[in-house]
Amino acid sequence: MRAADIIFQADNVSATFIHQFRADFPILNLKIGDKPLVYLDNAASSQMPQFVIDRLVRYQTTQHANIHRAVHYLSEIATHEYEMARQKLQHFINAGEAREVIFTSGTTDAINLVMHGYGRKFIQKGNEIILTHLEHHANIVPWQMLAEEKGAIIRVVPINDAGELLVEEYEKLFNENTRFVALSHVSNALGTINPIKEMIAFAHQRGVPVLIDGAQAAVHLAIDVQALDCDFYVFSAHKLCGPTGIGILYGKAHQLEAMQPFKGGGDMISSVTFEKTTYNEIPYKFEAGTPPIAAAIGFGAAIDYLSNIGLDSIARYEHELLTYATERISMIPGVKIIGNSSSKVAVISFTMEGIHPHDVGTLLNQEGIAVRTGHHCAQPIMQRFNIPATSRASFAFYNTKDEADALIEGIQTVKKVFLS
Ligand code: PMP
Repeated sequence: MRAADIIFQADNVSATFIHQFRADFPILNLKIGDKPLVYLDNAASSQMPQFVIDRLVRYQTTQHANIHRAVHYLSEIATHEYEMARQKLQHFINAGEAREVIFTSGTTDAINLVMHGYGRKFIQKGNEIILTHLEHHANIVPWQMLAEEKGAIIRVVPINDAGELLVEEYEKLFNENTRFVALSHVSNALGTINPIKEMIAFAHQRGVPVLIDGAQAAVHLAIDVQALDCDFYVFSAHKLCGPTGIGILYGKAHQLEAMQPFKGGGDMISSVTFEKTTYNEIPYKFEAGTPPIAAAIGFGAAIDYLSNIGLDSIARYEHELLTYATERISMIPGVKIIGNSSSKVAVISFTMEGIHPHDVGTLLNQEGIAVRTGHHCAQPIMQRFNIPATSRASFAFYNTKDEADALIEGIQTVKKVFLS
């Protein structure tokens, strides 16, 4: 058992646990004006611990060269470290093989890769693609582009008033034309955790492959792609305490092998003549050009950091924080939480009667509190709830109950300023 687990099981000591990890994040010591920063925008991007920053510095100062292309010392080191990062990602999500992990520039890029590599090859006119009402634009727009190009049809799984998918409606959407399902593990706007395991099994019984957008899940929940049995799973490093500009596509080897390349160029080929090019094996077939080497290695360090804490411990602590903040925010008159699923990560989207979310965000910023306001790149959800936008507080394992209290006080201040 890890030290972190022991601490979590003891009563009333989660604060000790958190302060121990909080100290790893230099940015959390910032002041915004004269107020301590309360960073509650983790669903957009989480912060980076010193451990990852140091790893990036070490790479740049002692290990940098281009990979896969030379026999000199630095190139060998950089190649080794880059491939080690791939293996770390493989173990993090329990993929069967390292070659099933493709480095991409992020979640959006990974979904576009599958759309081009799988969708453009296998989806035809009249075929149907199932999405859900909870998707981020990154998991809507590429499929719409494909549908437009091919004459395919998009079907959408509806949600209930709590922001949960109606699984029985999902099942009714399947017919002989269904060819692909793309759905989020966790909703970025509402925090809902979707029952993806059952949904994947249902699709597979009908021979339909499934892509899971794990952008909001991978930092909160332990992911096991073999247990889930998804065909594709995608996420970005910058939501897992890692750098921007890097993410992964996990794909089952047989799916990736059957797909066509997305981008052409160096490294993704096995031989090139003007008459014909043959492609490299996976994962390289999908990694054209010089990748973000430093970012991939930093991603590997972020995975080490998170794994050392333990995703189960993180999930337990964040759930405690979610329950604490939800109870208190729900008690404030005029504040409405949007998304009340019984299965949620620590994301609280809310509206305040008579006050525009942008004003809420601006006033909270004056208190040093960073929340996101807007449609969260999920306009269909806003339309479903008939609202233009929400304010969204999203917590990470380094946030504290004191910060939840600061948010609640901040909301009270916003009310006073606007409604007095
Ligand atoms: N999907 C979901 C559910 C997200 O929350 C995000 C980021 N907000 C994305 C996709 C896109 O991720 P990225 O911008 O890192 O490509």
